Amino acid sequence: MPEGMLLKSYPWASSLSDPDSSFTVKKFCMENALPYDDTLMPLPVDSFISYGKSFQQRFVTNVENKQVMKLRPTASGIEVHLENDEFVEASHVVIAIGVTPFANVPAIANSVPAEFVSHSSAYGPLDQLLGKEVAVIGAGSSATNMTALLHERGIPVTLVGRRPEIGFAGTPQLRSRFQRMIAPSGGIGDGWTMGLCATAPWAIHMLPSSVRLRLAYPRALGPLGGAFMRDRVMGKVPMLLGQNLRRLDIVKDRIELSFGMAQRPLRVDHVVFATGYKTDLGRLSFLSEDMVAQMRRIESAPALSRHYESSIPGLHFIGPAATNSFGPVSRFVHGTPHPARHLAKYFAAILPQRRIQVRKAHGIQVAAVR
Ligand SMILES: Cc1cc2nc3c(=O)[nH]c(=O)nc-3n(C[C@H](O)[C@H](O)[C@H](O)COP(=O)(O)OP(=O)(O)OC[C@H]3O[C@@H](n4cnc5c(N)ncnc54)[C@H](O)[C@@H]3O)c2cc1C
Repeated sequence: MPEGMLLKSYPWASSLSDPDSSFTVKKFCMENALPYDDTLMPLPVDSFISYGKSFQQRFVTNVENKQVMKLRPTASGIEVHLENDEFVEASHVVIAIGVTPFANVPAIANSVPAEFVSHSSAYGPLDQLLGKEVAVIGAGSSATNMTALLHERGIPVTLVGRRPEIGFAGTPQLRSRFQRMIAPSGGIGDGWTMGLCATAPWAIHMLPSSVRLRLAYPRALGPLGGAFMRDRVMGKVPMLLGQNLRRLDIVKDRIELSFGMAQRPLRVDHVVFATGYKTDLGRLSFLSEDMVAQMRRIESAPALSRHYESSIPGLHFIGPAATNSFGPVSRFVHGTPHPARHLAKYFAAILPQRRIQVRKAHGIQVAAVR
C-alpha cells in the first residue's frame, strides 16, 4: 500500500493474533511513542507495517522469504515447490496468501497495453504516476485512499464510480453504554450479527452456504471510503459518478474512457482500477488445473471443513480465501485469532498420530515415537 494510506478498521481491531493476545497494536504504539486511540483516530499503514515486522521478529523468526511456485499432492502429503527448484514435503500445508493474487480488473481492460492500466494493489510508492493525469475507478476504501494520495502528491486525478454517490464510514464517536448495548462494536462492523460473525466464525461455518454468503458480503461491508477520507476527497477532486465504463481506447498516446451517450469521454494518461479483489482458485498459478478441478468450491473459493481444510487432504486455506466458508471476519486482520488457534490445536492433536501412521506404514517401531 502507498505510504500515507490509513487502515479502515479500528486500531483496536487491527491486532495480529499471538498466543496470549498480549502484543497488540496498542501495546506496540505505546512502546514506540506512536499516536494511538482505540477508535477515534485511524491507524496509518506505516505504523501497521512496523507493528507487523516487530510481531514477526518476536513470534515468527523462522520465515523463509521464498515464492511458492507449485504444489503437488503425493501419497503421503503435499510437495511444496519453491523458487530455485527447492522443495519441501509436508503432511499439511496452510495457504495464507491474502488478497493480492485476486486483484480484480474488469474484462474491458484486458486488451489495453499494460502501461495504461494498473490495479491499486500494484502500488507501494506512487512515483511512477508523477507527471501523469490519472483516473481512479472505484468507490471504496482503496479508490478514495488512492485518489486522496494522488491529489495530495500534485497528480491530477479524477475519481470515476458506478454509484451515484461515494459512501464513507461514519466518523467514529464515543458511544454511550446504551448504544453499545443495542449495537455492539464487533471489530468488523456494529450490531449483533456482525458481532457474531466477528467472534464465532465456527458458528457461521455451520450455517447453510447461501446464508453464509449473504453474511460474507453484506452491504455494511460493501464499497465504503474510510471515515477519515471524506474531507481529503470530497470537494477536492473532480468526480464522475453514476457512470458505467463501456470502452477503453488508446488515442494519441493517452487512454480514453467512454461511458453512456450522456457523458463525454474522459482522456487521461493512466487508469488505476481500485476495483477490489475476488477469490478465484483458478488464478493461483501454484495450483495445477487438476487440483483446482478436484477441489470442492463455494462459488470460486475453496469449500473448507471446520479445520479450514479443502477437499484436497492436508491443504488448508486461511485469511480472505476462507470467507465463503467462515464468513466476513476472514477478510480482516481481526479474523486472525480463530484460524491461528484452531489450527494450532488441531495440528497438535493430529500430527503425533499422523507420524505414528507414517512410521507404521514404514514398519518403524511406534513406541519410539514422541
Ligand atoms: C487496500 C487494502 C486495505 C485493507 N485494509 C484493511 C483494514 O483496514 N483492516 C483489515 O483488517 N483488513 C484490511 N485489509 C484486508 C487485509 O489485507 C487482510 O485482512 C489481511 O492482510 C490478510 O492477512 P493475510 O496474512 O491472510 O494476507 P496478507 O497480509 O496479504 O499476506 C499474504 C502473504 O502471502 C504472500 N504470498 C502470496 N502468494 C505467495 C506465493 N505464491 N508464495 C509465497 N508467498 C506468497 C504475500 O507475499 C504476502 O506476504 C485491506 C486489504 C487491502 C488490499
